[in-house]
Amino acid sequence: MVELKTLQDAMEHFSAPQNAIDYMVRLRWPDGVVKCPSCGSEDVTWMPSRSLFQCKGRHPKRQFSVKVGTIFEDSPIGLGKWLLIGWMLANCRNGISSHEAARTIGVTQKSAWFMLHRLRAAAQEDVHTEPLFDEVECDETYVGGRTKFKHARKIAQLPQKPSIHDKTPVMGILQRGGAVRAMVVKNHKRVYLHAEIKKHVAPGSTLYTDDLHSYRGLPDYVHHYVDHSTKYVNGQVHTNGLENFWSLLKRCVKGTYIQVRPEHLQAYVAEQVFRYNSRKKLGVSEEKRFSTLLEGTTGKRLTYEELITR
Ligand SMILES: [Zn+2]
Repeated sequence: MVELKTLQDAMEHFSAPQNAIDYMVRLRWPDGVVKCPSCGSEDVTWMPSRSLFQCKGRHPKRQFSVKVGTIFEDSPIGLGKWLLIGWMLANCRNGISSHEAARTIGVTQKSAWFMLHRLRAAAQEDVHTEPLFDEVECDETYVGGRTKFKHARKIAQLPQKPSIHDKTPVMGILQRGGAVRAMVVKNHKRVYLHAEIKKHVAPGSTLYTDDLHSYRGLPDYVHHYVDHSTKYVNGQVHTNGLENFWSLLKRCVKGTYIQVRPEHLQAYVAEQVFRYNSRKKLGVSEEKRFSTLLEGTTGKRLTYEELITR
């Protein structure tokens, strides 16, 4: 098995279609036993002339490619191109624009945009089995429009309140020294922020927030807050970890994606969360990050129709 260290390695390796297929097969079926996505049978043979598997069972769709049952299903774009863009999305700090992706693999910008959104869906962690715990920072920011990334209380202090339609609130929850989770929320009212905290943070944990009133009234947690109108850090009481995450998100959205529609913002947030959390683990190679992203491609679908009607 070839070790892939760099984007250059990935480009060379996945330019051979069979390498791309073999990589995906190893990832989906690590024990080497390919299972039919329709009936689960292991009685499956490989047809090299067609680059398809064939199930011995008697049912429709008995011939299937390695893409079936993944986010790549039904895509006419070659698997090698998909894997290359996946590598870039998993590893490029500031994300990758659809224009850049289109130029890299020779597809239209519209196709590249759709590919990137499918890969973002793979990056989105749907099920969180373990809650965050111990020391946890919570904070919220606004993304989009003229008031990009201003803090909620700074927006409140603006002489003229900007239209609510041009910015989208995002909440972040970060376990110090651990993972971040971030999600688009309806607004920064107590009911929405409390719901996310209860969903993502183990009771008994210590919460660090600013003095936004919405964070008050959580008896299951130890709560410390800092008044940002006077200072940002008071010993251990700060949200600097999340400020760092917001600045990474900001660089990605402002620098690479330029304009993000509110209905797509959650996807860009998920992408940044994925990279942030995979970078946190020290010594993680580019290939490991890439294969982690690929693991999220199975069992998910995102059609163009679903994407444009979000
Ligand atoms: Zn079958």
